[in-house]
Parts: sequence; C-alpha cells; structure tokens
Amino acid sequence: MSITVGMLSADDIRNSKVFTALGGFRNGFDTPENWVYLMNLRNHARDQPCMVRVPEVCNGNQQTTVLAHYRLSGVSGMGVKSPDVIGAWACSACHAWIDTNHSDEAKVMHLEGMVRTINALVKGNYLKW
Ligand SMILES: [Zn+2]
Repeated sequence: MSITVGMLSADDIRNSKVFTALGGFRNGFDTPENWVYLMNLRNHARDQPCMVRVPEVCNGNQQTTVLAHYRLSGVSGMGVKSPDVIGAWACSACHAWIDTNHSDEAKVMHLEGMVRTINALVKGNYLKW
C-alpha cells in the first residue's frame, strides 16, 4: 500500500519528498511495479464529511473539512507530521476541539474518526490493499 499524487513515475516518487514521507509504507513491496500510488489525501479531505463528529461541537460543514493528522511519539514529532493515512477528516470545529483538548476522550474520538476515514478511503477505492 502506498499513497499519492497523480501520475508520478516510480522515479519521481523515489526521489520526492512524498516518497520519503511514505517510505514506511514500502515495506513488503520490493519493486516499483508493485507499488500502488493513489492521491494526495490532504487535498482529498476537502468537501468530505466530518468523521470525528464530536457531540455538540461538530459543525457538519464539509466545506471546512481538513485532514487532521494524529500525533504519536515515534510516528510524528519535531517538524515531522504523521503520514497522511494517520489522520481523520475533521470539520473546523472538531479539528479545533481535538487540537486543544488532550483528554483520553479526545484521543479516542480522533482515532475513531481516523478509522472511519480509512474505511471511507478503502470503500471509495482511494486506498487499496
Ligand atoms: Zn466535526
């Protein structure tokens, strides 16, 4: 499994920052022919439904949806964002809430939103296994 970005060649991807960011997903795929590249998941988040759905917070406005990366030690850190599959489609209100609320409840809501997002990507054939 891998992700990206239009119709880049294997060399483009190998030499790109995108490939570097996604290098972890190359495991198990030894040849470029076996890599599957799809799309820019940050751009794709636009106009998607909110998957975080915080009760009494969510504004349900798909025009405000962004990809909210989940931060985790060992995955993201100083200047390094998580890979784009490690994120949830979040409306502006839910995004602000999970960004400023670090309770276990907020983490679970973000993670459940991520699961819903990955499921929607697989169901929509944007993410293949
Ligand atoms: Zn929301």
